[in-house]
Amino acid sequence: MADRYAVIGHPVAHSKSPWIHAEFARQTGQELDYGRIEAPLEGFARALDEFRAAGGRGANVTLPFKEQAFSYCGKTSARARAAAAVNTLSFEGASVYGDNTDGVGLVIDLERNLGRAIAGKRVLLMGAGGAARGVLQPLLQRGPAVLRIANRTVRRAVALAVLFQDVKGGGFGDLAGESYDLLINATSAGLANETPPLPEEIFAAGAFAYDMVYGRDTPFLAQARAAGAATSDGLGMLVEQAAESFQLWRGKRPDTAPVLAALRGR
Ligand code: NAP
Repeated sequence: MADRYAVIGHPVAHSKSPWIHAEFARQTGQELDYGRIEAPLEGFARALDEFRAAGGRGANVTLPFKEQAFSYCGKTSARARAAAAVNTLSFEGASVYGDNTDGVGLVIDLERNLGRAIAGKRVLLMGAGGAARGVLQPLLQRGPAVLRIANRTVRRAVALAVLFQDVKGGGFGDLAGESYDLLINATSAGLANETPPLPEEIFAAGAFAYDMVYGRDTPFLAQARAAGAATSDGLGMLVEQAAESFQLWRGKRPDTAPVLAALRGR
């Protein structure tokens, strides 16, 4: 029987991960079965227990469970611990290993696929959920001039920022008069066709705006374009974080370019 993997979240019907991993498996000549698990909001651990009992070998975790996934693990990678959030689980007998590939996925997409530097830039990271947690340390490791976190629930941004040196956290109201070169939306506001409230002057000349939401034009990206910024959705991050998970599970690194091109063309 093929090894079983799945993406677990709520909601999860929209996820492109099953298609991406099927492409990676075809490309690398592996046999695996990758499905979707929509866990009830109060039933994340139970759904995972059932999947493992049925022979599941690993899972990707999506919103809103990345922080719960961290607590579910017996062992974690250093980058998962820095984030206190997990998006990749590996099951080996009774042991559960958690990693976080979101950050490397974002950095590869920005720098390699989109040709955007992080080093030396003023970076604004919006959100303080699992996705924001996962990308914070990898972004800092690229050497931005400034990294500021803004979140709707201010205390979550402050609590996240204090874990890292030289990172400030606050609310959107604190951004008045500031401008940034790279603005990364790690909130799920776009899924509800909403945008974090940003002052008009927030986009510096030549700014680049990135929304982790993919497969739709979000109000944040529309606002950025209207202010003259270049933009991207999060499809490349999705493919790159998936490739890192695939490598962890299967020991082979797939070629992401044709998979991303095919997804863009669909
Ligand atoms: P999460 O843990 O549920 O966190 C959601 C975040 O969005 C919180 O900071 C929340 O603020 C904020 N938020 C929600 N609605 C908002 C609104 N209307 N206005 C302003 N802020 C709002 O979710 P997550 O796992 O961090 O994921 C966040 C988004 O990133 C999702 O859309 C997800 O699909 C996307 N994502 C994409 C990739 C990719 O590979 N492209 C990877 C990871 C995540 P509060 O704290 O105030 O609730």
